Amino acid sequence: MMFKKDPKATIKRKYQPTEKAQKFLDKVENPKYDRGMIRGLNKFIGNKVPEEMQGFYSEEELQALVDLRDTPNDVEARMPVKITNHYFQIAKNSKPIQTLVKASPAETYDLEGAPDPGNQMTYSPLEGLIHKYELGLIYVVDTCSAHCRFCYREELIARKEIRREDGTVSSKGTAQIPELVEYILEHNRIVKENGGKHPETNREKLREILMSGGDPMVLPNKKLAEWFSALADCGIENIRLGTKELAFYPDRFDSTFFNMMDEFNDIYPEVQLRLMIHFNHPDEFLQKDKNGNYIDNPDGGLVWIKNTKKAVKELAKRHYITVINQAPFIKGINQDPQAIRIMQRELKRNNVNNQYFFCGRDIVGHKAFNLSIEDSWNLLNESQKGLSGVESTARLSITHYLGKTEVVAVTNEPIPGVPGTENGVVIFKLLRGAFDAPLKGKVAIVGRNPEAIWFSGYEDRVIYDEAGLFKKSMQDTSSVS
Ligand code: SF4
Repeated sequence: MMFKKDPKATIKRKYQPTEKAQKFLDKVENPKYDRGMIRGLNKFIGNKVPEEMQGFYSEEELQALVDLRDTPNDVEARMPVKITNHYFQIAKNSKPIQTLVKASPAETYDLEGAPDPGNQMTYSPLEGLIHKYELGLIYVVDTCSAHCRFCYREELIARKEIRREDGTVSSKGTAQIPELVEYILEHNRIVKENGGKHPETNREKLREILMSGGDPMVLPNKKLAEWFSALADCGIENIRLGTKELAFYPDRFDSTFFNMMDEFNDIYPEVQLRLMIHFNHPDEFLQKDKNGNYIDNPDGGLVWIKNTKKAVKELAKRHYITVINQAPFIKGINQDPQAIRIMQRELKRNNVNNQYFFCGRDIVGHKAFNLSIEDSWNLLNESQKGLSGVESTARLSITHYLGKTEVVAVTNEPIPGVPGTENGVVIFKLLRGAFDAPLKGKVAIVGRNPEAIWFSGYEDRVIYDEAGLFKKSMQDTSSVS
């Protein structure tokens, strides 16, 4: 079932809540938040930022960025600059966090990369929806409270024009409630009528939706609540929400947010919320002393930034919310096994599960950010030495166009009698795949290439490939173009 983009669909249809949903929506409070956001380099260039922020970019740094303006290497055309006051307070005492949030000319020295990472448009049957796996991913907003320079949604946030399946070119839009609800109901109706599988894709019922963007937590409570009730009313059992707001603006997790969540749980008790959070480095949530060291908590663990701790504690109190961290490994930000070890340990202690670390995606300009695949694996492996089994549950993932893939192992010794293994091998395993994941669990084994930052770096040294990660037919799309 392919829903085509309706060219006449310019008039936004309004969400019509059910009686049950209205009962919930009537109770939602909608406060305003002051994130102290600075949008755009112009504010820094014109010294229009608060006094304490002046000097965050040196004059030389600003000049180098100004020199790139209106050239193909303009850094803000690639990704607009944005920072909250809370994140600035962390960044001013943290080099990794500065690297995460400050624009740098190095980002655009090499603009190689995929304009639509993961070929998402191939799996977009409806504006703002990606239905590639068993779950649906929706873009509900196209910005965040601050912007990570390495963002893997830079094409959405910078509103770049993307070539679509039908050959037209336009920027990506966000999902709308009425259209999405129709899609889910129709998909699930067809699945039911066909004995539990969709006849074209073999997918099962849509049970889970990932609200993403951008960061849904920049939306007001009322809008979040509308999404929650609409999804619940059309049969969604698990709502995921991807957010970095615990790092950028933890005060967003205030009593009105939790009241809204509790009301939702009262009215829709069977719907689970999975909060997919995004901490890249422990500096984003731990306090430091004047020497830059984390502070031991006499009662156990380390001392957290107060409002972040408060938010995480409130989340942990709620049985219907699961909190899961996922983050990419990025050059100059978290290439530090000790920091990654501390992060995994502290998060688990505070009821946050460690799920994935990612190799950077092949976004435009990715060479400025991505660690090599083998360095990433070594980083995670090193970081997990000394962690307990429950603390070291995170896996290293890289997203192939066929699906989410785990970097399972990197070896150092030759395998006797197997050509191509002289320097050891890298083993990949497909964790998920498009449609009903027919290749799940299949592996590929390649000879090592310590420089490789993407699958294309292994194309000349494939030893075994039952997963098809390096098949010729995939090379046009799996290599960085
Ligand atoms: S929080 Fe996520 S979506 Fe937002 S700028 Fe960072 S990487 Fe991009």
